[in-house]
Amino acid sequence: MADRPSPAHRVNADLHCHSVVSDGLLAPAEVVERAHRNGVEVLALTDHDEVAGLADAAARAASLGLAFVPGVEVSVTWADETIHVVGLRVDYRDEALIAGLARTRNGRDDRAREISEQLAAAGIPGAYEGALRHAGNPDLISRSHFARYIVETGTCSDVPEVFRRFLVEGRPGYVPHRWARLADAVGWIRAAGGTAVMAHPGRYKLSDLCMDQLIREFRDAGGTAIEVVSGSHTPDQYGEFAQTAVRFGLQASRGSDFHGPGESRHDLGSLPPLPKHLQPVWHDWPEVEALQR
Ligand code: AMP
Ligand code: MN
Ligand code: MN
Ligand code: MN
Repeated sequence: MADRPSPAHRVNADLHCHSVVSDGLLAPAEVVERAHRNGVEVLALTDHDEVAGLADAAARAASLGLAFVPGVEVSVTWADETIHVVGLRVDYRDEALIAGLARTRNGRDDRAREISEQLAAAGIPGAYEGALRHAGNPDLISRSHFARYIVETGTCSDVPEVFRRFLVEGRPGYVPHRWARLADAVGWIRAAGGTAVMAHPGRYKLSDLCMDQLIREFRDAGGTAIEVVSGSHTPDQYGEFAQTAVRFGLQASRGSDFHGPGESRHDLGSLPPLPKHLQPVWHDWPEVEALQR
């Protein structure tokens, strides 16, 4: 193995972030502008369960000369756990992908009303309307929007505190939900010409045995890569999931999971590079070839 990082490793790729089309704070074009200012060389916008921001983002990236990859982050239920699968280089006009995402979004409104009832019982009234005010896209009302409302009420001082006291299993405002099936999500992404990436595996509360089973099923369904260097991982987890990538013969991805200034721990393009011994998921992408040196 070479001591120096390969040309692909030196490319500042950020392949996971959000806009107001899901639960981010910036418009798609503003995300692209910020990434460009931060020195990102190849960017994927990966809104939750929705591709509606990609055309605007692609147009802004083209005008700035930034390599842009259309993406999406699909919510999946696997063994009663919520898992996220990122699709990269998807054709966002693909009808089966669009229909699958629309089905996945279904039920968010009912879930939001139930979340709101639980929060009201816990002493936080008006949460449905409050969360909706924060949602750029009413079709995609998410726990992030509830979290911002709860901070606004003064009940918690920041979003991480909300996700310790509310909205998570065993706490008020947690409403279990059934998202897409793992094999379906990977299938939609692949049928739309894309590459499926297991998002932030370090976030899932699974035993070692279950984690291996998840990664195996993901790979067998046609998954290509896992996120190793992620804004949702601790530095220790970079090492842990680098080993997972090697054990399962998967490529590696890097993404900040940026949601907005002042809210996300890691800004666009600011994470360390991938470990040298892993194959970056972008290593053979034509968008990136011109950047390698
Ligand atoms: P939902 O899809 O409605 O279940 O919302 C999930 C979103 O909540 C994720 O995409 C994150 O943006 C946010 N989230 C979940 N857990 C946390 C956490 N511990 N800290 C901050 N944000 C979180
Ligand atoms: Mn999110
Ligand atoms: Mn996620
Ligand atoms: Mn995300």
